[in-house]
Amino acid sequence: MAEILVLVDHADGAVRKPTLELLTLARRLGEPAAVFVGTGSEGAVETLGRFGAQKVYVVDAPEAAEYLVTPSVDALAQIAGTANPAAILVASSFDGKEIAARVAVRLESGLITDAVDVEAGAEGPVTEQSVFAATYQVKAHVTKGTPIITVKPNAATPEEAPATPAVETVSVDFTAGGTKVVSRAPREKSDRPELTEADIVVSGGRGVNGAENFHVIESVADALGAAVGASRAAVDAGWYPHSHQVGQTGTQVSPQLYVAVGISGAIQHRAGMQTSKTIVAINKDEDAPIFDLVDYGVVGDLFKVMPQLEAEINKRK
Ligand SMILES: Cc1cc2nc3c(=O)[nH]c(=O)nc-3n(C[C@H](O)[C@H](O)[C@H](O)COP(=O)(O)OP(=O)(O)OC[C@H]3O[C@@H](n4cnc5c(N)ncnc54)[C@H](O)[C@@H]3O)c2cc1C
Repeated sequence: MAEILVLVDHADGAVRKPTLELLTLARRLGEPAAVFVGTGSEGAVETLGRFGAQKVYVVDAPEAAEYLVTPSVDALAQIAGTANPAAILVASSFDGKEIAARVAVRLESGLITDAVDVEAGAEGPVTEQSVFAATYQVKAHVTKGTPIITVKPNAATPEEAPATPAVETVSVDFTAGGTKVVSRAPREKSDRPELTEADIVVSGGRGVNGAENFHVIESVADALGAAVGASRAAVDAGWYPHSHQVGQTGTQVSPQLYVAVGISGAIQHRAGMQTSKTIVAINKDEDAPIFDLVDYGVVGDLFKVMPQLEAEINKRK
């Protein structure tokens, strides 16, 4: 069976959840083979094997921490050149999409970005994408070269399929240059999950009416173990950091549950959350467009509804 290369997204060897989702999807297409670039592979191999990797290509490269994207591009392109995989899967992060695009140019292969599903097809993997602010679902397949596909986080639920992967250490000739990292500053620590990876996202909009009120969003998010999102109106007003903006010009999320609070549902916001599995909205205007796409809607004042919701969640824990 042909290999399906999966680029491992990790922090010092701690494998991030989107990679486990890719391994789960890769099993539908062929034999999953993980490509680990960086340091700390020892701890990662067990996790990758547990989620079905039959092989792990290890590129033990301190360069990966020194340069943005290019070490991963060099590694993936070189390994793809010799392994002749049936497809390459990469997580749809900003870095992931840049890596995939550069590898596609090197290999002269077709590229599909932001897939929300991947299935095996007669002429290679068939992807599903959600386009034009999620008003159309598109099925596509690559017609040239090795299909390179970036997949949105939460497109699949990670499923264990324990294997003992063969580990192959690969030495890569890195391209000189690229974008060098000159300094690093740790982000303020939060116990909440990452916005793109969270199973549940609770977002606040202009209806929250001030930074000082965002605690009503955070309290419900914490009760649910969720990430906190915000509309652009809330972000532009300076009520919440830009890194939490959900939408066309923010982060695109696809959690199991998305709760929109005091958000009207403008098309640019929908573009970032419409593929969520279950959508709940709380808005005092019963004609708010967000209610057109919800599974459950509450018409009411968020300052009355949210404390009751939090109390009810805590009661049921
Ligand atoms: C090029 C471009 C890109 C954009 N990108 C993005 C993007 O990435 N993300 C994004 O979000 N927007 C984006 N926008 C902005 C977008 O068009 C909307 O302006 C924005 O989403 C509105 O945010 P909002 O829903 O919080 O505010 P509003 O549209 O003002 O809605 C506020 C809602 O809160 C409700 N409300 C008020 N008080 C309460 C209360 N006490 N209880 C309950 N409900 C209450 C109101 O009924 C209303 O529906 C973009 C716009 C452009 C032009």
